[in-house]
Amino acid sequence: MNNEGRKTTPVTAAQSAQHSGMMFEEPLIFEMDQPGRSGVDLPDVPNVPLRIGTLAPREHIGLPNLSEPEMVRHYTRLSQKNFGIDSTFYPLGSCTMKHNPRLNEKMARLPGFSDVHPLQPQSTVQGAIGVMKELSHWLLTLTGMKAITLAPAAGAHGEFCGMAAIKTALKVRGEDRKIVLVPESAHGTNPATAAALGFTVVSIPANGRGRVDRDALIAKLDNNVAAIMLTNPNTCGLFENEIIEIADAVHKAGAYFYGDGANYNALVGRVRPADLGIDAMHINLHKTFSTPHGGGGPGSGPVVFSERLAAYVPLPYVKIEQDILSLVEHADDAAQSFGRLKAFHGQMGMFVRALTYILSHGADGLYQVASDAVLNANYILASLKDVMSTPFEGPCMHEALFDDRFLKDTGVTTLDIAKALLDRGYHPMTMYFPLVVHGAFLIEPTETESKATLDGFIATLRELAIAAKDPANKELFINAPHTTPRRRLDETRAARQPILRWKE
Ligand SMILES: *Cc1c(COP(=O)(O)O)cnc(C)c1O
Repeated sequence: MNNEGRKTTPVTAAQSAQHSGMMFEEPLIFEMDQPGRSGVDLPDVPNVPLRIGTLAPREHIGLPNLSEPEMVRHYTRLSQKNFGIDSTFYPLGSCTMKHNPRLNEKMARLPGFSDVHPLQPQSTVQGAIGVMKELSHWLLTLTGMKAITLAPAAGAHGEFCGMAAIKTALKVRGEDRKIVLVPESAHGTNPATAAALGFTVVSIPANGRGRVDRDALIAKLDNNVAAIMLTNPNTCGLFENEIIEIADAVHKAGAYFYGDGANYNALVGRVRPADLGIDAMHINLHKTFSTPHGGGGPGSGPVVFSERLAAYVPLPYVKIEQDILSLVEHADDAAQSFGRLKAFHGQMGMFVRALTYILSHGADGLYQVASDAVLNANYILASLKDVMSTPFEGPCMHEALFDDRFLKDTGVTTLDIAKALLDRGYHPMTMYFPLVVHGAFLIEPTETESKATLDGFIATLRELAIAAKDPANKELFINAPHTTPRRRLDETRAARQPILRWKE
């Protein structure tokens, strides 16, 4: 850590001279520190128990001193620097950045949901447990699966949960299978999950159609393979149409089939993952079921299990006996649960939001979601393929994939186009993923965008794709973005050299 050369003075006139219009040059809150400032006016009592030595607690732990309006403005301005789904079209591929309906928020804020505590006696929270039961019922019905856990806090956590269940099942069978097969187009969390559980990852190549090479996969199956992890539709936005043959071969080899359900928005209400031969699959509530991503709230990644893995669901799970709902906290003899994954029961607020979304759509509405998501993605694909380049033939599922061949010899890269989109008020698409496609642009519009929004985005991207081919337009791209509070940042330095503390 090195803070040398950093100013610790409060906002200076020079800094505020950099404000322009609604764009504020926002210092770190620690740079705004002015000893003695406070949001509250407490009498200076020397013996308050919270004092540590001669210091008030805030000084002791190094929190900055600010007045209330200074603090409120600081965080409000920071929040306005965010690109978010509530401020702009956000076509980030593989992330399903759909609108978060306000009805969900209204339900989650009902005191009976927002004010309960996980340690309350279960008899006092029957309604909340009922929501868990009802959500479980819908997710099991939609997926055709046998058992579910709502505990995981994200998709990646769900992967860990499903793969831990597979590991437990193998242990119960007395087998020590070491290998997990993962297609090379997989999301990075798949190999990371397998490795975190001590498996060896073996990568399976894609074929010329952007699907996993079935024969290469089958050739790798033997009695040392624990599982395959497969995303469907895959990260190229294409349906794995040999999935049933693949599942059969995997099961014949005594292995399990983990389905990465991140792209479930393309199938929800139309295809039951159980019918595809999947044994465990996470469902990202913050993708398919419209709960907020990231800053808007915690993620949630329930996992559904087939008959073959149902005995291994983690604790706790919901049980109903003589109309009384309870959360089973200790495994009885019948279940061979691998234990507990997380403190308490999962992200309760997200369960309320997801169930609200499901009930407000109903079965027919959910069926429509997948069709509209696929239609929107194909509209983008068809509208741009004459000026951009597509790696694979034919229509896509819920996201459109382009490669960078159309930029050949222009000196403009996928990254440059993404940065130029920022200047035009769009959050860029996912770039350089999946890795199987050179300079990938992965665009997922979701079903919640209007045709007008899609037309605006298509027109902008069209214009950029055409402009990139003329060297006279280099400036549009090379130093883009031109209009954001910061220009090009080092993409990796914050992760490689994190500064986590302001002062020693
Ligand atoms: C988003 C995603 C994940 C991980 O889910 P998180 O909720 O972000 O942890 C895994 N696989 C794919 C294909 C994804 O798109």
